Amino acid sequence: MTTRDALKHVVMIICICLLVPVSGTASISNINEFLKTCPMNDPAYNQIKSDFTIRHNGTIVSFDNIYCTEPASLMNVSQYTDELIILQSLRVIYHMDFGRSGYLPWTSGTLYAWMKSKIKGFDINDSAQGSSCCGQYSDGLYITLNPKDDLTRTADMTWFNLPYAIALYAHEARHVDGYAHVSCCGIPNGCDQTFDLNNLSPYGIQWWLINSFLNGNIDVGLSCGLSASKISDTAHYLLTGLNGNSGYQSRFCDNKPSTVTMPQHPGGPCPSNPDVKANGVDAYCIALPGNTVSVTASLSPGDWNGETADYWIAADTPWGFYTLTTSGWTPGIQMLAKYPLINIPPVEIFKSSLPIGQYKFYFGVNKLSNTIPDSLLYFDYVNVTVLTLTPIRPVLFENTLNNLSQ
Ligand SMILES: [Zn+2]
Repeated sequence: MTTRDALKHVVMIICICLLVPVSGTASISNINEFLKTCPMNDPAYNQIKSDFTIRHNGTIVSFDNIYCTEPASLMNVSQYTDELIILQSLRVIYHMDFGRSGYLPWTSGTLYAWMKSKIKGFDINDSAQGSSCCGQYSDGLYITLNPKDDLTRTADMTWFNLPYAIALYAHEARHVDGYAHVSCCGIPNGCDQTFDLNNLSPYGIQWWLINSFLNGNIDVGLSCGLSASKISDTAHYLLTGLNGNSGYQSRFCDNKPSTVTMPQHPGGPCPSNPDVKANGVDAYCIALPGNTVSVTASLSPGDWNGETADYWIAADTPWGFYTLTTSGWTPGIQMLAKYPLINIPPVEIFKSSLPIGQYKFYFGVNKLSNTIPDSLLYFDYVNVTVLTLTPIRPVLFENTLNNLSQ
């Protein structure tokens, strides 16, 4: 092999697997990782752009001018604007429902759909002392927000204070339904008369959301990917917002929400996290005929460590489904094994070249252990496309080859 051929070979290896984000997932499995990403890289970005508008002192802010660089949660706070906090909050609201609706006591829809039905957007008003509902513009109602100081914006960059930003938006949007405050708790216009789960007031909705973020009724993966001490800090901060004089409990007079205790798994247990990769990449791998495709599977057991589960490894191929069994890859769908959920470092489950076509490799675990690959399966997949090079040769690849031949 000449030097040029060797370089071509290296270029080809680099180009074989292209990382393409998996789009449209309707859940957040790890809020820490989620908040490292920027709004413009979110598949829901265009949807959010068309549904909500942000104004600053009344002037419409172009979403595309809102600066963000990844990892977003590690940005310099001076660059992390109030506008970006609103966008990150809206992203969480959009994705946190896990495809569910009808679980919120005050609407049959999702929080996102409900917010959209109540307000057109948010107006950051530099002279506002606090938040309020709502300013009227020609295109609809806007929640008025005061600018936040560096300390608050720092706390909003992660899943520490951001739950409170989201709960506050919901509080303000509830005013659109005609709920006004009273002063019975000693704070002028800072109280609601009665806590009623069947008729939640603005502070009631705030309490309900923060309680749900704490107990995992709304699970955004607080317990995945954070240290135990950080999870504990967040959980205590959420608990403080619920109970006693510093919590929403004190904002009611006739009937108060009951005192919340610390749940066993704040934010919900971290589920087991299967991972499958092809040639080392997560979402989409493109290979050429004759290239070796190596598929690996790994597992992080999360809070279910040691519990028995069904293990499934499958491949969707041009010739139908194949599954990995104790006797190797077999046509059809069969379970691999019943086995405790444990930490499994990457194991090679397939290694070969493949004929031209589309393939999808799956690795899933089912804690229900019912020998059925049902909706309780936690799974990951990777797409593998094997094709001829000519029709889709990337421009970058072509340019690189041209440079090499000069
Ligand atoms: Zn209010």
